[in-house]
Amino acid sequence: MDNKMFCFQCQEAAKGIGCTIKGVCGKDDTVAGLQDLLIHTLKEISLIVRKGQLATADLTEVSHQVVNSLFMTITNANFDADAIDAQIRKMVQLREDLKNTNPGIETGETASWQSGDRASMLETAKLVGVLATDHEDVRSLRELVIYGLKGMAAYTEHAFNLGKENPAIYEFMYEALSSVLDDSLTADQLVALVLKTGEYGVQAMALLDEANTSAYGNPEITEVNIGVRNRPAILISGHDLRDMEQLLEQTEGTGVDVYTHSEMLPANYYPAFKKYEHFVGNYGNAWWKQVTEFKSFNGPILFTTNCIVPPREEAIRERIFTTGSAGYPGCRHIVPDADDRKDFSEVIEMAKQCPPPQEIETGSIVGGFAHAQVFALADKVVDAVKTGAIRKFFVMAGCDGRMKSREYYTEFAEKLPKDTVILTAGCAKYRYNKLPLGDIGGIPRVLDAGQCNDSYSLALIALKLKEIFELSDVNDLPVAFNIAWYEQKAVIVLLALLFLGFKNIHLGPTLPAFLSPNVTNVLVNTFGIAGIGEVDDDIKLFLN
Ligand code: SF4
Ligand code: SF4
Repeated sequence: MDNKMFCFQCQEAAKGIGCTIKGVCGKDDTVAGLQDLLIHTLKEISLIVRKGQLATADLTEVSHQVVNSLFMTITNANFDADAIDAQIRKMVQLREDLKNTNPGIETGETASWQSGDRASMLETAKLVGVLATDHEDVRSLRELVIYGLKGMAAYTEHAFNLGKENPAIYEFMYEALSSVLDDSLTADQLVALVLKTGEYGVQAMALLDEANTSAYGNPEITEVNIGVRNRPAILISGHDLRDMEQLLEQTEGTGVDVYTHSEMLPANYYPAFKKYEHFVGNYGNAWWKQVTEFKSFNGPILFTTNCIVPPREEAIRERIFTTGSAGYPGCRHIVPDADDRKDFSEVIEMAKQCPPPQEIETGSIVGGFAHAQVFALADKVVDAVKTGAIRKFFVMAGCDGRMKSREYYTEFAEKLPKDTVILTAGCAKYRYNKLPLGDIGGIPRVLDAGQCNDSYSLALIALKLKEIFELSDVNDLPVAFNIAWYEQKAVIVLLALLFLGFKNIHLGPTLPAFLSPNVTNVLVNTFGIAGIGEVDDDIKLFLN
């Protein structure tokens, strides 16, 4: 029987192979098909740009829409078929405009499909999805590039929302998107493209770091309240700090509090947001626990990006608002006005009618250990390493997820010897950031740099230590990598780390389904990539 769909872009791919009937994430075959078609249309646009040698400087709107389209297809970001359908039509129009204003660009049969009704679009989608590439290694390398681009696009869009852009990133996106249509590329050339994707991933993460810190200051050590107050409130999820800022501004003086959720937790670490008295702290845990936590939160929830778990209950759906690349059918979507301002008044008015959040925990957690803060503590950290008080650092950045196998990370953190420190970023932290792991001479044993893009901070910290200890190879540092992945932002983080020269990274809880055996071998042999095993065995292995 033919597959209804095929998607293997995230760690939850069904049976470790791919989702063929409906996504484990909740994505149905219509959304999956439309996402395939949207990605294909981006490749066509990129082919026109490359073949026509069009200047990126003249393509501002196209580039922004390419980035937004890629972001819309990230796992758990957008489940709204109508929104993706509209985006495809927008991209086809931009493609046709490019052809009309630059006649004579030779693209053969490619870049010629025309949008029609939904059914005909889904028929076209069947011809251009992941499985359209027969050769499994070529398919694997192409998709590795595409998933890296999706993660890169997410970071690029957040930076753009804060007014920071790097045209070289757009240029590379066009190069990469068009290259995956090129049947003449050898496996070696595709491997080189994968590494180049990592190189631009570093640039995207650096750009976002600059955007966030120049707008809101450097993250600083912060005790974040995880309890609640007795006032109505809004929960903000996702990653976009510009949305966070606008929400805080608009809720000020309204009697409505604001709490962060999941990946928005690190917003608490930025100096610029601390002035808001009604910014209370963080509510809940990693994204997948939202099914129960949104119920007890009681107030409206604003999704600025992924990760949405399809809300089954109408009562919850009614309280969910989306903006940016996020979307869910039946949930209200907020778009910016001509001045790029988002009006959250509807969310605020709803909050006023809702009871305050129900307490699910009390106390606080500590974070804010991004590069500037850790550099400020460098003497203390270096001393602790020199005296042997800190034996090893474990980078445990990445994503959390609902699979039981992820309990490994809690057990791993608990069993690590007390003279080790965990460096984290992304929502993987929720597996151990509330454990009483203590500190080493005042240095907490879990140092949270921030969101998954702040893995960039962890790389900078490692590179700084390499400099301080006068090492020629960053892999000689007492740093081990045990990273958890879930979706495509973790892919670009991994490729960025590989580009920066980090080796022997362990990836779990399972290796990506989109890596063919041969591509896995390349990663194992060239970079020492490995999976995970039993906690006790792995700890022994890492400490040796
Ligand atoms: S995003 Fe993940 S869970 Fe969703 S359809 Fe794709 S592989 Fe399956
Ligand atoms: S770290 Fe990954 S899985 Fe977690 S919220 Fe961020 S993007 Fe989603």
